[in-house]
Amino acid sequence: MGDETVPEAFDANGPVQAEASPVAPAETNALVWQSLALDLLRQAGAEYSDLAKRLQVRWNPRMRSTAGMAYPARALITLNPRLIVFGNAEVDRTLRHELAHLLAHYRAGRRKIAPHGQEWKIACHDLGLRDESRCHSLPLPQRKMNRPHGYRCPGCGLTIRRTRPMRKKAACLACCRTHAGGRYDERFRFVKAILPILIFIALLQ
Ligand SMILES: [Zn+2]
Ligand SMILES: [Zn+2]
Repeated sequence: MGDETVPEAFDANGPVQAEASPVAPAETNALVWQSLALDLLRQAGAEYSDLAKRLQVRWNPRMRSTAGMAYPARALITLNPRLIVFGNAEVDRTLRHELAHLLAHYRAGRRKIAPHGQEWKIACHDLGLRDESRCHSLPLPQRKMNRPHGYRCPGCGLTIRRTRPMRKKAACLACCRTHAGGRYDERFRFVKAILPILIFIALLQ
């Protein structure tokens, strides 16, 4: 086996309710969140793990619409400071979501796991994140607008999204491989698509 790659990062979507009722801003000291994460690992029985030893939680002001990220190789969780206005509950939820990624990876060792697969769900449960539908939560409104340009493959119907309009011709790789020997084929050139909101949500899960 030997050569397994661990995905570099996973992302979590932002809070479900973008215009929530007024809520007190969240705790801003990242060390407070880091120590909560350690408490959670203790509850999950991973108190003496290498993960607990190395775990770091930081704010990353450069994050845009992503609420949090988990970096298994670095035992690092980054949180988006924009979460602060949504209060402690949203930061807490994002922290647990990301910590579940780290814990699932730690437990899996060198075995490959799906980002939001069974191992992650079990880790969520062990970290007290019970509402799984919220783990696969809906995006912040600006996330939807981040990639407003939809394109569809006329061959297989695959829909993709882009931040900017496509300048160059681009065709569906899967269809070109299957039907055109891997070469660009005009029949599978992406056409502009009006994306219904449900497709956005499906893509973001
Ligand atoms: Zn995730
Ligand atoms: Zn296609």
